[in-house]
Amino acid sequence: MSKSSVNDTKSAEYMERYMEGVKKRNPGEPEFHQAVYEVASTIFPYIKDKPVYHQNQILERMAEPERVIYFRVPWTDDAGNVRTNRGFRVQFNSAIGPYKGGLRFHPSVNLSILKFLGYEQTFKNSLTGLPMGGGKGGANFNPKGKSDNEVMRFCQSFITELYRHIGEDTDVPAGDIGVGGREIGYMFGQYKRITNKFVGVLTGKGLEFGGSQMRTEATGYGAIFFLQNMLKEHRDTIEGKRVLISGSGNVATHAAEKVLQLGGNPLTLSDSGGFIHCPDGLTQEQIDWVKELKGARRGRISEAADQFPNITFHEKSRPWGVEADCAVPSATQNEVSAAEAAGLIKNGVKAIAEAANMPCEQPAVDAFTEAGVLFGPAKAVNAGGVGVSGLEMSQNSGRISWEPDRLRALLENMMRDIHDSCVQYGKADEGPVNYLAGANIAGFVKVADAMLSYGHV
Ligand code: NDP
Repeated sequence: MSKSSVNDTKSAEYMERYMEGVKKRNPGEPEFHQAVYEVASTIFPYIKDKPVYHQNQILERMAEPERVIYFRVPWTDDAGNVRTNRGFRVQFNSAIGPYKGGLRFHPSVNLSILKFLGYEQTFKNSLTGLPMGGGKGGANFNPKGKSDNEVMRFCQSFITELYRHIGEDTDVPAGDIGVGGREIGYMFGQYKRITNKFVGVLTGKGLEFGGSQMRTEATGYGAIFFLQNMLKEHRDTIEGKRVLISGSGNVATHAAEKVLQLGGNPLTLSDSGGFIHCPDGLTQEQIDWVKELKGARRGRISEAADQFPNITFHEKSRPWGVEADCAVPSATQNEVSAAEAAGLIKNGVKAIAEAANMPCEQPAVDAFTEAGVLFGPAKAVNAGGVGVSGLEMSQNSGRISWEPDRLRALLENMMRDIHDSCVQYGKADEGPVNYLAGANIAGFVKVADAMLSYGHV
């Protein structure tokens, strides 16, 4: 049993039986088992003297999606070949609001990954304080190397099935890996065409058609606001800190930008080909160049080393061996192993903020907790993205747009409130705040209590 988890016999026994059941009912879904374990291991000790949650099978029901939609997505490539992908939407939990969560287009997408993401999303959305349930979806489609027309045809085919299952009061998808402004535009256009309705059914839309200011920046900026709050809570500051960041997409580049704005030094970025290292700290000009490279130009991060003399590229490796004060994994799941966590700890890293979803393997999380490293879990750290999506929903319902300054302030306050909720439930008698337990319990209580009110549905 892991360090971050149950340490009394009764809870440990419950936990073991519970996980056996989860594994039996969801065979071959390791990412989903990992996500459920991570949450349940902190919830069991909390509910051990609260029989109402046990009697009502709350944790069991929470680990079962309310609905899974699984469909064929046929489309035609530019050469006229018919191609077929697999589309999904996991509508996990609607206890506190319409299902809400991103769509991921990546060849690795499968049910296990989307169930883990949808399950996590339920707790994350609860933490934002907004009325949103949890969901996630996507397809095993790889947008890399596809023309704009191919991506458009794929998105239209995808939404031609999905449209009947979503709606502004039912399920409101957003972007995720491989789904940015271009894809959301194509899907929203097709939804509008089929239904003849202009409603806030997708978030992450362009500003011209109902998108919110600050949505693009929200996840990366929010992650760094959370890191700033963690450091402040422990009488430290982000100023002058050397920060390792992985990924070079939406989350990573905005995280790097906010580190810079708050006086820190973002040292690295990466993609699936390797990482770049700038010992002086990346400048705004370099971050903007990477945004353009990985956005409109759809290039590879290695090209940054050809462009800037103070940047080196390290092929097929991740940035975690570089000496630094903080690490913000911002690419994908399971990108920090136990061995890499040991290296980070040895190099004296003070804080980890998970900006990607579940980027640290469970033994890595255990190692950070045991070493007293501040550990901000994804569901709290990256909740700013869905938080501003929730605000996009509100603006769409009211048919209004708020000013950027208002949204910036709302995001900053939201991240502080999420941080403080984690502290409320995760403060230890000694040592650093247990943010993992704090985030899980704070997210759980609201959803669980709503489920209790509804009876057995
Ligand atoms: P993007 O698609 O914009 O960028 C993803 C980045 O991660 C790219 O640099 C990509 O490199 C890299 N990457 C993807 N898969 C791998 C892999 N297997 N190994 C190494 N690098 C990889 O995605 P986002 O920035 O939007 O999302 C990043 C993470 O943040 C995800 O975990 C996502 O779920 C999470 N997240 C995103 C939110 C958002 O608002 N966008 C909200 C909350 C969470 P390459 O170009 O080589 O593929």
